[in-house]
Amino acid sequence: MRHCLARPYIFNLFDIINGQFKINASDAAMKIGVLALQGAFIEHVNMLRQLGAEAVEVRLPEELDALDGLIIPGGESTTIGKLAVEYRLISPLRRFARAKPTWGTCAGMIFLAKDIGNQEQPILGAMDIAVDRNAFGRQIDSFETDLDIAGLTAEPFHAVFIRAPVVTAVADGVDVLARLDDGRIVAVRQAHLLATAFHPELTDDLRLHSHFCAIVRETLA
Ligand code: GLN
Repeated sequence: MRHCLARPYIFNLFDIINGQFKINASDAAMKIGVLALQGAFIEHVNMLRQLGAEAVEVRLPEELDALDGLIIPGGESTTIGKLAVEYRLISPLRRFARAKPTWGTCAGMIFLAKDIGNQEQPILGAMDIAVDRNAFGRQIDSFETDLDIAGLTAEPFHAVFIRAPVVTAVADGVDVLARLDDGRIVAVRQAHLLATAFHPELTDDLRLHSHFCAIVRETLA
């Protein structure tokens, strides 16, 4: 894939000492789904498996039942929304995101948001954020940059943005985890919900997936 060229992340001693990559019994017991209707879902599955979690592709409502957490991948949010309606997944996904850790990347962030302006497309409306779908326009539709992300140790995170959205407003209870240099918000957390405007699954950096596994682990404790 053209956008896989991001600099690989090398585990360093700091992360190892901090236990960022420790695979323990609770990671192994953890079952995380990746919504597999469209987009970059395989890459998320592979990263979760590298961390020792059980990762499964989700296409049917009943496949949500046994999950401890869910990732909604990047792709095209209008297509993901349309297919979710066709597969009768909208209500089950809304129920899931109310109760259990759910992480949306890029199109997944749009799909999770409560407010996407006047775009007519099915969304879950689970997270108290407003999102601008076409924030970077056509001229700069893709770029890569290093981000400082709250809660991640050591070096900045190399983030790949592809026709990415940004968060334009957050309600009380939503923590901003990362901003671009110009101040625009590109990563947020609200309790058990996580959203990132970029594609961590297109790099070798496992830290955000590890962070999501930690959120899932918190809810299982
Ligand atoms: N712009 C796309 C959308 O509206 C998202 C792009 C992506 O997920 N890389 O869904």
